[in-house]
Amino acid sequence: VIMLGQAEHSAITTCAYCGVGCSFKAEMKGNQVVRMVPHKDGQANHGHSCVKGRFAWGYATHKDRITKPMIRSKITDPWREVSWDEALTYAAGEFRRIQAKYGKDSIGGITSSRCTNEETYLVQKLVRAAFGNNNVDTCARVCHSPTGYGLKQTLGESAGTQTFDSVMQSDVIMVIGANPVAAHPVFASQMKRRLRQGAKLIVVDPRTTDMVKSPHVQAAFHLKLRPGTNVALITALAHVILSEGLEKPDFVAERCDQKSYADWKEFVLRPENSPEMMAAVTGVPAEQLRGAARLYATAANGAIYYGLGVTEHAQGSTMVIGIANLAMATGNVGREGVGVNPLRGQNNVQGSCDMGSFPHELPGYRHVSDSTVRGEFEQMWGVTLSPEPGLRIPNMFDAALDGSFMGLYCEGEDIVQSDPNTQHVTAAMAAMECIVVQDLFLNETAKYAHVFLPGSSFLEKDGTFTNAERRISRVRKVMPAKAGKSDWEVTVALSNALGYPMNYSHPSQIMDEIAALTPTFHGVSYAKLEQAGSLQWPCNEEAPQGTPIMHIGQFVRGKGKFINTQYFATDEKVTLKFPLILTTGRILSQYNVGAQTRRTENVEWHSEDRLEIHPHDAEDRGIKDDDWVGIESRAGQTVLRATVTERVQPGVVYTTFHFPESGANVITTDNSDWATNCPEYKVTAVQVMPVSQP
Ligand code: SF4
Repeated sequence: VIMLGQAEHSAITTCAYCGVGCSFKAEMKGNQVVRMVPHKDGQANHGHSCVKGRFAWGYATHKDRITKPMIRSKITDPWREVSWDEALTYAAGEFRRIQAKYGKDSIGGITSSRCTNEETYLVQKLVRAAFGNNNVDTCARVCHSPTGYGLKQTLGESAGTQTFDSVMQSDVIMVIGANPVAAHPVFASQMKRRLRQGAKLIVVDPRTTDMVKSPHVQAAFHLKLRPGTNVALITALAHVILSEGLEKPDFVAERCDQKSYADWKEFVLRPENSPEMMAAVTGVPAEQLRGAARLYATAANGAIYYGLGVTEHAQGSTMVIGIANLAMATGNVGREGVGVNPLRGQNNVQGSCDMGSFPHELPGYRHVSDSTVRGEFEQMWGVTLSPEPGLRIPNMFDAALDGSFMGLYCEGEDIVQSDPNTQHVTAAMAAMECIVVQDLFLNETAKYAHVFLPGSSFLEKDGTFTNAERRISRVRKVMPAKAGKSDWEVTVALSNALGYPMNYSHPSQIMDEIAALTPTFHGVSYAKLEQAGSLQWPCNEEAPQGTPIMHIGQFVRGKGKFINTQYFATDEKVTLKFPLILTTGRILSQYNVGAQTRRTENVEWHSEDRLEIHPHDAEDRGIKDDDWVGIESRAGQTVLRATVTERVQPGVVYTTFHFPESGANVITTDNSDWATNCPEYKVTAVQVMPVSQP
């Protein structure tokens, strides 16, 4: 039941769920949301919305919200409510004690793609300036870090190339490893509008998603590959294009690095990369590979959209590179209707990466080893910065188990539920001496925390989010922070308690500092955002009103660079003991670890994670629809109810990961992308057997 009433005040703000970044008018009665109205002038959504943005705001005032700071000296002790001063002094004292005992690099911080740009900027600043190391990472590590790496290497910038509206100029749309109907619903609707106008669709996915066939939309090709074989598939598509002369030689000659192109061409045309050879690897018939490659390469405008089905693999970065190779070879970069477009899962994945929350990069994707860049930050921040890259999230866990990483500040990220191989994560968490969690709720991670600092919802703070099209939009405070401090104020207070003074009275001042230190943000300010509604970076002297389409005329790196994409089978092999491949994804009516959607009672949500299994595999095991099944991998085991369906292919099972009790990440493994350590969530060898109800 939604309690509606007369709004007393309102503000335009940005949805805190997915990377579409829809704009809403938040209508309030006192400190209670009356309704969220999709904003007709919203530049990402044009007045549209999905069920989450429109209705799933109940968590902000849910009874589970923790609004008092709490501490405890052991995780087996009960929590003790304390003042902000006591909690912050205790946390700062513990961090300094740990550094004195184990060394400067023994602590670090994790920030989240749920946070605003300003909050993320402050967390990395705190780690670098107050902790004195580069041990800062973001949950983008476990989703789109390969995008950052792959697009930087090939095109020169770690971001998508287009606006969402650009899809309305596309003639062929290739969706790889993404289910926008569930994860990016408003953009999926826009894409479907274009498809209904006659654009053709290619879907690359091991599962029959809602994109493949829906009312009035039917994919021309559904390349239903085996999980883990993306790189073989993309190389086979390139083979078809080059062997049939479907590339755009003028574009390649003018825009791309010739030596890299010649090397790549020689590699791609090797017989082992032919569709016939790769059909055996991918499970996709050669004729389908040929047909899809021809369709994409001969389109007037071909656009690629991809998701975590690309990145969350042992070769995630290689696959991103393969996508960029394909777009460059066919001239599909640098104008409307084309491009390489990562669909960012969370509201601020793009922004959290932009803000320097990786252990090797300062804001604006500049390496910490660059002394000139470091010098700019040192001058502004008044400290000497470390030139050594810090620890990534999985390295932090390993170091904790080695006894060299003992303190963690974790803002807005439930690493225990969302990171792979839960047993490994919890062992590492239990080994640390001080974990400070800043969040709305006592989440799974907070079970291992010594200090809990109450967080603030998007309704309780000012700031900005950056969506999947690099669009920076305002988040506006419509109610006071329930715990008395917005998240950015908590980080400022923690830094002050650590003895590194931070002094801001409003997030606009943080953005001014970001703009001064980040070339792609030089032209961004709250005043300009107020005037323009939103801005797409780069927004600077060369592009004062922002950059809707990137790489027009020239790639950011100068010449586009081709890189060979040699396919390697993942180490995660099926065996007699683990004969099925588990892959994971999302559903529309839940969101990630479910912290918000599970606490929104005004909508009927999916109430459990289920295991999808093909009828043949189900019959072999005596499993019927709704039966309870045990799932075992090399990492662990869990129990779910089964859905018997042909959406998955034989040999593949699928689940979502929205409920802590389902334990999807109890069974995922430590395998990860070779370049970025992004976990290989999408491929886990498992056995599935019927069990009695747990
Ligand atoms: Fe929010 Fe994404 Fe839905 Fe838009 S599409 S309302 S940003 S969850």
